[in-house]
Amino acid sequence: MTLRRAQRRRSGKLGALATPGSSALPASLFTFDNSYARELPGFYVAWQPAAVPAPRLLRLNAALAEELGLDAQALAAPDGVQVLAGNRVPEGASPLAQAYAGHQFGGFSPQLGDGRALLLGEVMDRHGRRRDIALKGSGRTPFSRGGDGKAAVGPVLREYLIGEAMQALGIPTTRALAAVATGEAVQRERALPGAVLTRVAASHVRVGTFQFFAARGQHDDVRRLADYVIARHDPDLAAAPDRYLGLLRRVAQRQAALIAQWMNVGFIHGVMNTDNMTISGETIDYGPCAYMESYDPEAVFSSIDHGGRYAYRNQPLIARWNLARLAETLLPLLAVDGVTPDDAVAQVTEVIDAFPAWYDAHWRAGQRAKLGLQTAQPEDAALADDWLALLHAQQVDFTLAWRHLADAADAGERRAEPLRDLFVDRAAADAWLQRWRARSDAEGADTSARAAAMRAVNPIVIPRNHLVEEALAAAADHDDLAPFERLLDAVTQPFTERAGFERYAEPAPRELTAGYRTFCGT
Ligand code: AMP
Ligand code: MG
Repeated sequence: MTLRRAQRRRSGKLGALATPGSSALPASLFTFDNSYARELPGFYVAWQPAAVPAPRLLRLNAALAEELGLDAQALAAPDGVQVLAGNRVPEGASPLAQAYAGHQFGGFSPQLGDGRALLLGEVMDRHGRRRDIALKGSGRTPFSRGGDGKAAVGPVLREYLIGEAMQALGIPTTRALAAVATGEAVQRERALPGAVLTRVAASHVRVGTFQFFAARGQHDDVRRLADYVIARHDPDLAAAPDRYLGLLRRVAQRQAALIAQWMNVGFIHGVMNTDNMTISGETIDYGPCAYMESYDPEAVFSSIDHGGRYAYRNQPLIARWNLARLAETLLPLLAVDGVTPDDAVAQVTEVIDAFPAWYDAHWRAGQRAKLGLQTAQPEDAALADDWLALLHAQQVDFTLAWRHLADAADAGERRAEPLRDLFVDRAAADAWLQRWRARSDAEGADTSARAAAMRAVNPIVIPRNHLVEEALAAAADHDDLAPFERLLDAVTQPFTERAGFERYAEPAPRELTAGYRTFCGT
Protein backbone atom coordinates (compact mmCIF):
# COMPACT_ATOMS: atom_id res chain seq x y z
CA MET A 1 0.00 0.00 0.00
CA THR A 2 1.36 3.42 -0.86
CA LEU A 3 1.34 6.09 1.78
CA ARG A 4 -1.15 8.22 -0.06
CA ARG A 5 -3.53 5.32 -0.33
CA ALA A 6 -2.99 4.51 3.35
CA GLN A 7 -3.94 8.04 4.20
CA ARG A 8 -7.00 8.07 1.94
CA ARG A 9 -8.20 4.71 3.03
CA ARG A 10 -7.85 5.30 6.73
CA SER A 11 -8.33 8.98 7.27
CA GLY A 12 -12.07 8.85 6.78
CA LYS A 13 -12.39 6.35 9.55
CA LEU A 14 -9.88 8.10 11.73
CA GLY A 15 -10.98 11.62 10.99
CA ALA A 16 -13.37 11.69 13.88
CA LEU A 17 -10.64 10.69 16.29
CA ALA A 18 -8.08 13.17 15.11
CA THR A 19 -8.73 16.69 16.30
CA PRO A 20 -6.77 19.26 14.37
CA GLY A 21 -4.80 21.74 16.42
CA SER A 22 -6.68 24.92 17.08
CA SER A 23 -5.45 28.29 18.24
CA ALA A 24 -1.88 29.23 17.54
CA LEU A 25 0.55 29.78 20.40
CA PRO A 26 3.33 32.27 20.84
CA ALA A 27 5.94 31.53 18.22
CA SER A 28 8.54 31.50 20.96
CA LEU A 29 7.58 28.04 22.26
CA PHE A 30 9.57 26.20 19.55
CA THR A 31 11.59 27.52 16.67
CA PHE A 32 10.93 24.68 14.28
CA ASP A 33 12.88 23.88 11.15
CA ASN A 34 11.25 20.77 9.77
CA SER A 35 13.67 19.12 7.38
CA TYR A 36 11.94 15.73 7.40
CA ALA A 37 8.59 17.21 6.42
CA ARG A 38 10.21 19.47 3.84
CA GLU A 39 12.70 17.15 2.21
CA LEU A 40 11.02 13.77 2.38
CA PRO A 41 7.44 14.01 1.11
CA GLY A 42 6.17 10.48 0.62
CA PHE A 43 7.98 9.24 3.72
CA TYR A 44 5.22 10.13 6.15
CA VAL A 45 1.58 11.01 6.57
CA ALA A 46 0.76 14.51 7.79
CA TRP A 47 -1.47 13.99 10.78
CA GLN A 48 -2.87 15.70 13.84
CA PRO A 49 -2.72 14.62 17.47
CA ALA A 50 -5.94 13.57 19.16
CA ALA A 51 -7.51 15.84 21.75
CA VAL A 52 -7.46 14.65 25.36
CA PRO A 53 -9.83 15.74 28.13
CA ALA A 54 -7.70 16.95 31.04
CA PRO A 55 -3.97 17.47 30.45
CA ARG A 56 -1.87 17.70 33.56
CA LEU A 57 1.90 18.01 33.60
CA LEU A 58 3.57 15.12 35.40
CA ARG A 59 7.14 16.14 34.74
CA LEU A 60 8.97 18.66 32.62
CA ASN A 61 12.65 18.15 31.89
CA ALA A 62 13.80 21.71 32.54
CA ALA A 63 17.48 20.92 31.94
CA LEU A 64 16.71 19.40 28.55
CA ALA A 65 14.40 22.31 27.70
CA GLU A 66 17.30 24.64 28.42
CA GLU A 67 19.64 22.56 26.24
CA LEU A 68 17.10 22.80 23.43
CA GLY A 69 16.84 26.55 23.83
CA LEU A 70 13.21 26.30 24.97
CA ASP A 71 11.42 28.30 27.62
CA ALA A 72 10.74 25.75 30.37
CA GLN A 73 8.33 28.06 32.15
CA ALA A 74 6.26 28.57 29.04
CA LEU A 75 6.15 24.82 28.43
CA ALA A 76 4.98 24.20 32.00
CA ALA A 77 2.28 26.90 31.77
CA PRO A 78 -1.26 25.81 30.81
CA ASP A 79 -0.84 26.68 27.12
CA GLY A 80 2.44 24.76 27.01
CA VAL A 81 0.86 21.71 28.64
CA GLN A 82 -1.90 21.79 26.01
CA VAL A 83 0.83 21.46 23.41
CA LEU A 84 2.62 18.67 25.29
CA ALA A 85 -0.69 16.81 25.53
CA GLY A 86 -1.38 17.15 21.81
CA ASN A 87 -4.42 19.40 22.30
CA ARG A 88 -2.82 22.25 20.44
CA VAL A 89 -0.31 22.15 17.65
CA PRO A 90 2.35 24.79 18.21
CA GLU A 91 3.14 27.34 15.56
CA GLY A 92 5.68 26.13 13.05
CA ALA A 93 5.02 22.44 13.70
CA SER A 94 4.29 20.06 10.86
CA PRO A 95 3.02 17.02 12.72
CA LEU A 96 3.53 13.78 10.86
CA ALA A 97 3.56 10.03 11.34
CA GLN A 98 6.68 8.45 9.88
CA ALA A 99 6.48 5.33 7.75
CA TYR A 100 8.71 2.41 8.65
CA ALA A 101 8.84 -1.35 8.46
CA GLY A 102 10.74 -3.74 10.66
CA HIS A 103 11.84 -7.21 11.57
CA GLN A 104 10.06 -8.03 14.81
CA PHE A 105 11.56 -11.04 16.56
CA GLY A 106 13.00 -12.05 13.21
CA GLY A 107 9.79 -11.83 11.18
CA PHE A 108 9.37 -9.02 8.67
CA SER A 109 6.46 -6.58 8.95
CA PRO A 110 6.44 -4.45 5.80
CA GLN A 111 4.34 -1.74 7.39
CA LEU A 112 4.69 -0.57 10.97
CA GLY A 113 5.16 3.17 11.18
CA ASP A 114 4.27 5.65 13.90
CA GLY A 115 1.10 4.07 15.21
CA ARG A 116 0.97 6.23 18.29
CA ALA A 117 3.59 8.89 17.77
CA LEU A 118 3.84 12.11 15.81
CA LEU A 119 6.91 14.09 14.94
CA LEU A 120 5.97 17.70 15.69
CA GLY A 121 9.09 19.12 14.15
CA GLU A 122 12.79 19.75 14.61
CA VAL A 123 14.69 22.35 16.58
CA MET A 124 18.35 23.28 16.67
CA ASP A 125 19.68 22.89 20.20
CA ARG A 126 22.19 25.17 21.93
CA HIS A 127 25.05 23.10 20.51
CA GLY A 128 23.74 23.48 16.97
CA ARG A 129 22.48 19.90 16.80
CA ARG A 130 19.19 19.17 15.08
CA ARG A 131 16.76 17.39 17.44
CA ASP A 132 13.36 15.86 16.77
CA ILE A 133 10.48 16.81 19.04
CA ALA A 134 7.83 14.08 18.95
CA LEU A 135 4.73 13.13 20.87
CA LYS A 136 4.21 9.50 21.86
CA GLY A 137 0.74 8.35 22.84
CA SER A 138 -0.92 11.14 20.86
CA GLY A 139 -3.66 9.02 19.31
CA ARG A 140 -4.27 6.86 16.29
CA THR A 141 -2.61 7.40 12.94
CA PRO A 142 -2.89 5.60 9.60
CA PHE A 143 -0.21 3.27 10.97
CA SER A 144 -2.04 2.26 14.13
CA ARG A 145 -3.30 -1.08 12.80
CA GLY A 146 -5.30 -2.51 15.73
CA GLY A 147 -3.82 -0.18 18.34
CA ASP A 148 -5.45 2.73 20.10
CA GLY A 149 -2.54 5.10 19.57
CA LYS A 150 -2.37 5.81 23.27
CA ALA A 151 0.16 5.38 26.05
CA ALA A 152 -0.29 4.86 29.78
CA VAL A 153 1.26 6.79 32.66
CA GLY A 154 3.43 3.87 33.82
CA PRO A 155 5.23 3.15 30.54
CA VAL A 156 5.56 6.88 29.79
CA LEU A 157 7.26 7.50 33.12
CA ARG A 158 9.40 4.39 32.59
CA GLU A 159 10.64 5.78 29.30
CA TYR A 160 11.30 9.14 30.95
CA LEU A 161 13.20 7.58 33.83
CA ILE A 162 15.29 5.05 31.92
CA GLY A 163 16.19 7.56 29.25
CA GLU A 164 17.44 10.04 31.83
CA ALA A 165 19.35 7.27 33.61
CA MET A 166 21.02 6.29 30.33
CA GLN A 167 21.89 9.91 29.65
CA ALA A 168 23.45 10.23 33.11
CA LEU A 169 25.42 7.03 32.50
CA GLY A 170 26.83 8.62 29.36
CA ILE A 171 24.97 6.30 26.98
CA PRO A 172 23.47 7.80 23.79
CA THR A 173 19.70 7.90 24.13
CA THR A 174 16.50 9.57 23.10
CA ARG A 175 15.20 11.65 25.99
CA ALA A 176 11.96 12.81 27.48
CA LEU A 177 11.16 16.49 27.44
CA ALA A 178 7.87 16.01 29.26
CA ALA A 179 5.30 13.57 30.54
CA VAL A 180 1.69 14.71 30.65
CA ALA A 181 -1.30 12.84 32.07
CA THR A 182 -4.28 13.05 29.75
CA GLY A 183 -7.12 12.53 32.20
CA GLU A 184 -8.31 9.73 29.95
CA ALA A 185 -8.41 6.00 30.71
CA VAL A 186 -6.44 3.72 28.43
CA GLN A 187 -7.71 0.17 28.16
CA ARG A 188 -5.03 -2.48 28.56
CA GLU A 189 -5.45 -5.65 30.63
CA ARG A 190 -7.21 -3.21 32.90
CA ALA A 191 -8.02 0.47 32.57
CA LEU A 192 -4.92 2.61 33.12
CA PRO A 193 -4.44 6.36 33.34
CA GLY A 194 -3.35 7.72 29.98
CA ALA A 195 -0.33 9.89 29.25
CA VAL A 196 1.66 11.48 26.46
CA LEU A 197 5.45 11.56 26.34
CA THR A 198 7.36 14.24 24.49
CA ARG A 199 10.40 12.52 23.04
CA VAL A 200 13.56 14.21 21.85
CA ALA A 201 15.84 12.38 19.43
CA ALA A 202 18.80 13.10 17.18
CA SER A 203 16.37 11.72 14.61
CA HIS A 204 13.74 9.00 14.53
CA VAL A 205 15.11 7.34 11.40
CA ARG A 206 15.52 3.63 12.02
CA VAL A 207 16.85 0.61 10.18
CA GLY A 208 13.17 -0.11 9.59
CA THR A 209 12.72 3.22 7.77
CA PHE A 210 15.13 2.00 5.10
CA GLN A 211 13.40 -1.37 5.02
CA PHE A 212 10.01 0.21 4.36
CA PHE A 213 11.12 1.55 0.97
CA ALA A 214 13.54 -1.23 0.08
CA ALA A 215 10.81 -3.84 0.58
CA ARG A 216 8.66 -2.00 -1.97
CA GLY A 217 11.47 -1.82 -4.48
CA GLN A 218 11.50 1.99 -4.15
CA HIS A 219 15.25 2.26 -4.42
CA ASP A 220 15.21 5.93 -5.35
CA ASP A 221 13.47 6.57 -2.06
CA VAL A 222 16.10 4.53 -0.21
CA ARG A 223 18.65 6.79 -1.87
CA ARG A 224 16.76 9.94 -0.84
CA LEU A 225 16.58 8.66 2.70
CA ALA A 226 20.26 7.76 2.72
CA ASP A 227 21.18 11.21 1.41
CA TYR A 228 18.95 12.78 4.05
CA VAL A 229 20.51 10.89 6.97
CA ILE A 230 24.03 11.47 5.64
CA ALA A 231 23.34 15.21 5.57
CA ARG A 232 21.87 15.02 9.05
CA HIS A 233 24.14 12.59 10.88
CA ASP A 234 27.28 12.21 8.79
CA PRO A 235 27.60 15.41 6.75
CA ASP A 236 31.32 14.83 6.23
CA LEU A 237 30.41 11.86 4.01
CA ALA A 238 28.13 13.87 1.73
CA ALA A 239 30.65 14.37 -1.06
CA ALA A 240 32.32 10.97 -0.78
CA PRO A 241 31.91 8.71 -3.82
CA ASP A 242 31.34 5.70 -1.53
CA ARG A 243 29.04 7.57 0.83
CA TYR A 244 26.39 4.85 1.13
CA LEU A 245 28.93 2.28 2.18
CA GLY A 246 30.38 4.96 4.45
CA LEU A 247 26.95 5.46 6.00
CA LEU A 248 26.60 1.75 6.70
CA ARG A 249 30.04 1.75 8.31
CA ARG A 250 29.17 4.74 10.50
CA VAL A 251 25.87 3.25 11.63
CA ALA A 252 27.64 -0.01 12.45
CA GLN A 253 30.36 1.80 14.37
CA ARG A 254 27.83 3.79 16.36
CA GLN A 255 25.90 0.64 17.20
CA ALA A 256 29.12 -1.15 18.17
CA ALA A 257 29.90 1.61 20.64
CA LEU A 258 26.32 1.76 21.90
CA ILE A 259 25.79 -1.95 22.50
CA ALA A 260 29.17 -2.19 24.24
CA GLN A 261 28.00 0.51 26.64
CA TRP A 262 24.75 -1.34 27.27
CA MET A 263 26.65 -4.53 28.02
CA ASN A 264 29.00 -2.80 30.43
CA VAL A 265 26.13 -1.49 32.55
CA GLY A 266 24.04 -4.66 32.34
CA PHE A 267 21.29 -3.10 30.24
CA ILE A 268 18.92 -5.38 28.36
CA HIS A 269 16.90 -3.56 25.73
CA GLY A 270 14.40 -6.36 25.38
CA VAL A 271 13.01 -5.61 21.94
CA MET A 272 15.85 -5.04 19.49
CA ASN A 273 13.65 -5.18 16.44
CA THR A 274 15.01 -3.38 13.39
CA ASP A 275 12.39 -0.66 13.85
CA ASN A 276 13.88 -0.02 17.28
CA MET A 277 17.44 0.50 16.05
CA THR A 278 18.28 4.09 15.20
CA ILE A 279 20.59 5.33 12.48
CA SER A 280 21.86 8.01 14.89
CA GLY A 281 23.16 5.46 17.41
CA GLU A 282 20.81 6.53 20.18
CA THR A 283 19.00 3.96 22.29
CA ILE A 284 15.27 4.14 21.53
CA ASP A 285 12.07 2.60 22.90
CA TYR A 286 12.23 1.68 26.55
CA GLY A 287 9.37 -0.79 26.53
CA PRO A 288 10.35 -4.12 28.06
CA CYS A 289 13.92 -3.13 28.94
CA ALA A 290 15.52 -3.96 32.28
CA TYR A 291 18.83 -3.80 34.07
CA MET A 292 20.40 -7.03 35.14
CA GLU A 293 20.87 -7.60 38.86
CA SER A 294 22.93 -10.73 39.51
CA TYR A 295 25.13 -11.42 36.52
CA ASP A 296 23.66 -13.87 34.05
CA PRO A 297 24.53 -13.76 30.36
CA GLU A 298 21.27 -15.54 29.55
CA ALA A 299 19.16 -12.92 31.32
CA VAL A 300 15.95 -12.02 29.54
CA PHE A 301 13.04 -10.21 31.15
CA SER A 302 10.54 -9.56 28.39
CA SER A 303 7.37 -11.59 28.70
CA ILE A 304 7.09 -11.90 24.93
CA ASP A 305 10.71 -12.94 24.28
CA HIS A 306 10.02 -16.66 24.58
CA GLY A 307 13.08 -17.86 22.71
CA GLY A 308 15.45 -15.47 24.45
CA ARG A 309 16.28 -13.84 21.11
CA TYR A 310 17.02 -10.56 22.87
CA ALA A 311 18.77 -12.02 25.91
CA TYR A 312 21.63 -9.98 27.38
CA ARG A 313 24.41 -11.86 25.69
CA ASN A 314 22.70 -11.93 22.30
CA GLN A 315 22.58 -8.15 21.99
CA PRO A 316 25.79 -7.72 19.97
CA LEU A 317 24.79 -10.60 17.71
CA ILE A 318 21.37 -9.12 17.14
CA ALA A 319 22.85 -5.70 16.44
CA ARG A 320 24.94 -7.27 13.72
CA TRP A 321 21.92 -9.11 12.34
CA ASN A 322 19.98 -5.85 12.22
CA LEU A 323 22.87 -4.11 10.49
CA ALA A 324 22.86 -6.84 7.85
CA ARG A 325 19.20 -5.97 7.20
CA LEU A 326 20.21 -2.32 6.77
CA ALA A 327 23.02 -3.39 4.45
CA GLU A 328 20.55 -5.27 2.23
CA THR A 329 18.51 -2.13 1.71
CA LEU A 330 21.60 -0.31 0.47
CA LEU A 331 22.74 -2.92 -2.07
CA PRO A 332 20.89 -1.40 -5.07
CA LEU A 333 22.55 1.94 -4.26
CA LEU A 334 25.97 0.36 -4.28
CA ALA A 335 25.58 -1.75 -7.42
CA VAL A 336 25.98 1.14 -9.86
CA ASP A 337 28.72 2.56 -12.09
CA GLY A 338 30.29 -0.76 -12.92
CA VAL A 339 29.96 -2.21 -9.43
CA THR A 340 28.36 -5.62 -9.87
CA PRO A 341 25.73 -6.89 -7.46
CA ASP A 342 28.29 -9.41 -6.21
CA ASP A 343 30.81 -6.64 -5.60
CA ALA A 344 28.17 -4.71 -3.66
CA VAL A 345 27.47 -7.74 -1.51
CA ALA A 346 31.19 -8.14 -0.89
CA GLN A 347 31.46 -4.48 0.14
CA VAL A 348 28.69 -4.61 2.72
CA THR A 349 29.79 -8.02 3.94
CA GLU A 350 33.16 -6.56 4.80
CA VAL A 351 31.44 -3.98 7.01
CA ILE A 352 29.11 -6.47 8.65
CA ASP A 353 32.00 -8.84 9.25
CA ALA A 354 34.00 -6.03 10.85
CA PHE A 355 31.25 -5.33 13.37
CA PRO A 356 32.25 -7.97 15.96
CA ALA A 357 35.79 -6.58 16.16
CA TRP A 358 34.49 -3.01 16.49
CA TYR A 359 32.10 -4.11 19.19
CA ASP A 360 34.81 -6.08 20.97
CA ALA A 361 37.19 -3.13 20.96
CA HIS A 362 34.58 -0.89 22.61
CA TRP A 363 33.47 -3.55 25.03
CA ARG A 364 36.99 -4.47 26.09
CA ALA A 365 38.02 -0.81 26.42
CA GLY A 366 34.97 -0.26 28.63
CA GLN A 367 35.89 -3.27 30.72
CA ARG A 368 39.45 -2.07 31.13
CA ALA A 369 38.20 1.28 32.39
CA LYS A 370 35.86 -0.50 34.78
CA LEU A 371 38.79 -2.60 35.99
CA GLY A 372 40.79 0.57 36.56
CA LEU A 373 43.36 -0.22 33.89
CA GLN A 374 44.87 2.50 31.77
CA THR A 375 46.88 0.41 29.37
CA ALA A 376 45.87 -2.58 27.29
CA GLN A 377 47.64 -5.87 27.92
CA PRO A 378 47.04 -9.20 26.22
CA GLU A 379 46.00 -10.85 29.50
CA ASP A 380 43.25 -8.29 30.21
CA ALA A 381 40.56 -10.13 28.29
CA ALA A 382 41.08 -13.26 30.37
CA LEU A 383 41.13 -11.21 33.55
CA ALA A 384 37.76 -9.65 32.62
CA ASP A 385 36.29 -12.94 31.40
CA ASP A 386 37.28 -14.70 34.62
CA TRP A 387 35.76 -11.89 36.68
CA LEU A 388 32.47 -12.23 34.82
CA ALA A 389 32.59 -16.01 35.14
CA LEU A 390 33.05 -15.57 38.88
CA LEU A 391 30.07 -13.21 39.10
CA HIS A 392 28.00 -15.65 37.10
CA ALA A 393 28.99 -18.73 39.10
CA GLN A 394 28.20 -17.03 42.38
CA GLN A 395 25.22 -15.00 41.18
CA VAL A 396 26.77 -11.74 42.27
CA ASP A 397 25.07 -8.40 41.67
CA PHE A 398 26.70 -7.00 38.51
CA THR A 399 26.52 -3.33 39.47
CA LEU A 400 27.66 -3.71 43.07
CA ALA A 401 30.50 -6.04 42.14
CA TRP A 402 32.03 -3.46 39.84
CA ARG A 403 31.40 -0.62 42.26
CA HIS A 404 32.91 -2.44 45.22
CA LEU A 405 35.87 -3.35 43.08
CA ALA A 406 36.51 0.39 42.91
CA ASP A 407 36.42 0.49 46.69
CA ALA A 408 38.83 -2.42 46.81
CA ALA A 409 41.25 -0.41 44.69
CA ASP A 410 41.65 2.11 47.49
CA ALA A 411 44.84 0.83 49.03
CA GLY A 412 44.58 3.44 51.76
CA GLU A 413 42.33 1.04 53.57
CA ARG A 414 42.33 -1.82 51.07
CA ARG A 415 38.59 -1.74 51.43
CA ALA A 416 37.86 -5.11 49.94
CA GLU A 417 35.35 -6.28 52.51
CA PRO A 418 32.16 -5.02 50.82
CA LEU A 419 33.32 -6.76 47.67
CA ARG A 420 34.26 -10.02 49.39
CA ASP A 421 30.89 -9.99 51.15
CA LEU A 422 29.17 -10.34 47.78
CA PHE A 423 30.73 -13.75 47.23
CA VAL A 424 29.86 -17.03 48.87
CA ASP A 425 33.14 -18.62 47.82
CA ARG A 426 35.56 -16.00 49.04
CA ALA A 427 38.63 -18.02 48.22
CA ALA A 428 37.74 -17.88 44.53
CA ALA A 429 37.16 -14.14 44.81
CA ASP A 430 40.46 -13.64 46.63
CA ALA A 431 42.37 -15.57 44.02
CA TRP A 432 40.97 -13.38 41.28
CA LEU A 433 41.56 -10.20 43.33
CA GLN A 434 45.18 -11.15 43.73
CA ARG A 435 45.61 -11.38 39.95
CA TRP A 436 43.80 -8.08 39.47
CA ARG A 437 45.96 -6.32 42.08
CA ALA A 438 49.12 -7.63 40.50
CA ARG A 439 47.94 -6.39 37.10
CA SER A 440 46.81 -2.97 38.31
CA ASP A 441 49.74 -2.39 40.68
CA ALA A 442 52.03 -2.85 37.71
CA GLU A 443 50.45 0.30 36.24
CA GLY A 444 51.42 2.48 39.18
CA ALA A 445 50.93 3.08 42.84
CA ASP A 446 48.39 5.91 42.82
CA THR A 447 45.55 3.78 44.10
CA SER A 448 43.27 6.60 45.12
CA ALA A 449 43.40 8.04 41.62
CA ARG A 450 42.62 4.56 40.29
CA ALA A 451 39.68 4.17 42.66
CA ALA A 452 38.34 7.60 41.66
CA ALA A 453 38.64 6.75 37.97
CA MET A 454 36.83 3.47 38.57
CA ARG A 455 34.03 5.18 40.49
CA ALA A 456 33.54 7.52 37.55
CA VAL A 457 32.70 4.57 35.26
CA ASN A 458 31.16 2.05 37.66
CA PRO A 459 27.78 3.39 38.79
CA ILE A 460 26.53 2.92 42.31
CA VAL A 461 22.94 3.51 41.19
CA ILE A 462 21.15 1.98 38.23
CA PRO A 463 17.36 2.00 37.76
CA ARG A 464 16.72 -1.22 39.63
CA ASN A 465 13.61 -2.98 38.43
CA HIS A 466 11.86 -3.24 41.78
CA LEU A 467 12.38 0.48 42.43
CA VAL A 468 11.19 1.39 38.95
CA GLU A 469 8.06 -0.70 39.41
CA GLU A 470 7.46 0.79 42.85
CA ALA A 471 7.76 4.34 41.50
CA LEU A 472 5.54 3.68 38.47
CA ALA A 473 2.88 1.97 40.57
CA ALA A 474 2.76 4.89 43.01
CA ALA A 475 2.34 7.31 40.11
CA ALA A 476 -0.16 5.29 38.10
CA ASP A 477 -2.23 3.77 40.91
CA HIS A 478 -2.05 6.43 43.61
CA ASP A 479 -1.18 9.56 41.67
CA ASP A 480 1.85 9.87 43.92
CA LEU A 481 4.86 11.14 41.99
CA ALA A 482 7.17 11.43 44.99
CA PRO A 483 8.80 7.99 44.56
CA PHE A 484 9.33 8.71 40.85
CA GLU A 485 10.94 12.09 41.58
CA ARG A 486 13.21 10.58 44.20
CA LEU A 487 14.25 7.69 41.94
CA LEU A 488 14.83 10.08 39.05
CA ASP A 489 17.08 12.09 41.34
CA ALA A 490 18.94 8.91 42.31
CA VAL A 491 19.50 7.56 38.80
CA THR A 492 20.57 10.88 37.34
CA GLN A 493 23.61 11.01 39.63
CA PRO A 494 24.60 7.39 39.21
CA PHE A 495 28.27 7.67 40.05
CA THR A 496 27.90 9.56 43.34
CA GLU A 497 27.37 7.90 46.68
CA ARG A 498 24.94 10.11 48.53
CA ALA A 499 23.68 9.95 52.09
CA GLY A 500 20.00 9.10 52.14
CA PHE A 501 20.14 7.24 48.82
CA GLU A 502 21.40 3.93 50.17
CA ARG A 503 18.33 1.95 49.26
CA TYR A 504 18.70 2.90 45.59
CA ALA A 505 21.98 1.01 45.50
CA GLU A 506 20.59 -2.17 46.99
CA PRO A 507 19.67 -5.19 44.89
CA ALA A 508 16.12 -6.44 44.89
CA PRO A 509 15.28 -9.43 47.05
CA ARG A 510 16.34 -12.41 44.97
CA GLU A 511 12.83 -13.96 44.83
CA LEU A 512 11.62 -10.77 43.22
CA THR A 513 14.28 -10.69 40.51
CA ALA A 514 13.83 -14.36 39.66
CA GLY A 515 10.20 -13.78 38.71
CA TYR A 516 10.64 -10.34 37.19
CA ARG A 517 8.99 -9.92 33.80
CA THR A 518 8.62 -6.85 31.68
CA PHE A 519 5.85 -6.07 29.26
CA CYS A 520 5.90 -4.10 26.03
CA GLY A 521 5.14 -0.55 27.04
CA THR A 522 1.91 -0.09 25.21
P1 AMP B 1 7.08 -0.70 19.70
O1 AMP B 1 6.96 -2.12 20.18
O2 AMP B 1 6.66 0.31 20.71
O3 AMP B 1 8.39 -0.42 19.09
O4 AMP B 1 5.99 -0.58 18.55
C1 AMP B 1 5.97 -1.38 17.39
C2 AMP B 1 4.91 -0.87 16.45
O5 AMP B 1 3.62 -0.96 17.07
C3 AMP B 1 5.06 0.56 16.04
O6 AMP B 1 4.60 0.65 14.72
C4 AMP B 1 4.14 1.30 16.99
O7 AMP B 1 3.70 2.54 16.46
C5 AMP B 1 2.99 0.31 17.10
N1 AMP B 1 2.25 0.47 18.35
C6 AMP B 1 2.65 0.10 19.59
N2 AMP B 1 1.70 0.38 20.49
C7 AMP B 1 0.67 0.94 19.82
C8 AMP B 1 -0.62 1.44 20.20
N3 AMP B 1 -1.05 1.42 21.46
N4 AMP B 1 -1.40 1.94 19.21
C9 AMP B 1 -1.00 1.96 17.94
N5 AMP B 1 0.19 1.50 17.53
C10 AMP B 1 1.02 1.00 18.46
MG1 MG C 1 9.37 1.08 18.40
